Amino acid sequence: MQSYIEKQWQECLDDFSKKISSVGMDLWISPLQPINIEPDRLVVVAPSDMVRTQVNNIYLARMKEALRTHYNVENMLILLPEERDAYAEKFNEKNPDAEVLEPKIATTKNPFNPRYTFDNFVIGTTNQVVYAAARAVAENPAKRFNPLFIYGGVGLGKTHLLHAIGNYIWEHKNKPMNIVYVTCEQFTNAYINAIRESQSKGMDAFRKKYRQADILLIDDIEFIGNKKGVQEEFFNTFNDLHQAGKQIILSSDRPPKDIETLEERLRSRFASGFIQDIQPPDFETRLLIIQKKIELERFEFAKGLDYELADRLANFNIREMEAILRKIYFLANLNGKTVATREDMDEVLEREGEPTTASISKMTQEKIFDIVSHYFSIDRKDLVGRKRNKEIVEPRQICIYLMWTQLAIPLSTIGQIFGRDHTTIIHARDKIMEQVKSNKQMKNMINELISQLKDNA
Ligand code: ADP
Ligand code: MG
Repeated sequence: MQSYIEKQWQECLDDFSKKISSVGMDLWISPLQPINIEPDRLVVVAPSDMVRTQVNNIYLARMKEALRTHYNVENMLILLPEERDAYAEKFNEKNPDAEVLEPKIATTKNPFNPRYTFDNFVIGTTNQVVYAAARAVAENPAKRFNPLFIYGGVGLGKTHLLHAIGNYIWEHKNKPMNIVYVTCEQFTNAYINAIRESQSKGMDAFRKKYRQADILLIDDIEFIGNKKGVQEEFFNTFNDLHQAGKQIILSSDRPPKDIETLEERLRSRFASGFIQDIQPPDFETRLLIIQKKIELERFEFAKGLDYELADRLANFNIREMEAILRKIYFLANLNGKTVATREDMDEVLEREGEPTTASISKMTQEKIFDIVSHYFSIDRKDLVGRKRNKEIVEPRQICIYLMWTQLAIPLSTIGQIFGRDHTTIIHARDKIMEQVKSNKQMKNMINELISQLKDNA
């Protein structure tokens, strides 16, 4: 039977659709799921941060009237899937008698973020080992890597992998399984609350939750403080589970040896399992990630922009890359376009303080032109000119190759310098790159040019 909240939501959707385009409804509004109604706001869950941002920034204003009519509220709290448990707990605590939709859903529904799956995880050279280990653990828990300890910088996919393991086990389980995912902070807070409670009730409930886990995933374990009680409790939980053949998976922003607050005995427990890092993505991986995100979010980007972005986003982590893609797409939308173009990208990157043609040192570019034109005895203005004879084309390609490899100038910027589109630039770069590998003469020539560049520095 439909609950009150759900029934009202249907009517809201009808009203929203009078003010919001069908594309907007499909992309951003239909994925919302109402879970609770508070005195002054409706609480909904959005499948991704992108949906949340888009609804908050663009659609909420147009939704207020219907919210007022059908729920008698004017506002909306939008949660992400991973936030719903914490929300329900807090709400239930404050309103012991309230009728909440949430707990019913939480027990029967996969609690993991549906977007954080193995399928949505792009594999590249920088994360393939950790992916394989996570996958092995998901397919055969508590067999080989126990505990599995994943570490790496912020925004590189640790939480994604933990959820992917959770999702996988959830979907493939053939008997009830107790899969417990918490952040270290939640674990710590739950512990502190438990010891505060009168008698032993709190502690019993706490232990029941964690020591009866079949799979325990703790995110951001580096936040384990040096308060003795928490580590003690965690140590005992760890031992209990480990001895009972249960799988433990931990993530951290650094390896165990660098977590200063970690007790030695825990450190050695972690070391008894499998410790694996995730590195920032290289060019190929960035490109694949960008393509995947564009596909998943149903964005449209002009042809070739994915390459340029992979090139220009070298210093961004994956979460930041997602944010940039979103900003570019929003900007395009704002400009009334359905396909994001290079102008949108340039504008967004410029606002982010990324180097543009003007800010990359002219001196260094000039030096490459000087050295190459001198080496081949050609006029330097031909290097950026339109001539297509081999005597000119090859030195031009070498300039492009040098700018890319030696100065790390983004391909799009190189394109602007040479007045050519980025496919031409990529072609030039790849051609020389190939020859450096296969042709000794080219290799020597490039080495000579590079050493001249360095001498002149
Ligand atoms: P961390 O926990 O390491 O800080 P997250 O797991 O939260 O990072 O990842 C940040 C964002 O980047 C998430 O939206 C996640 O889906 C995405 N992401 C990270 N790694 C990958 C990958 N290999 N493929 C696709 N998306 C990824
Ligand atoms: Mg994380």
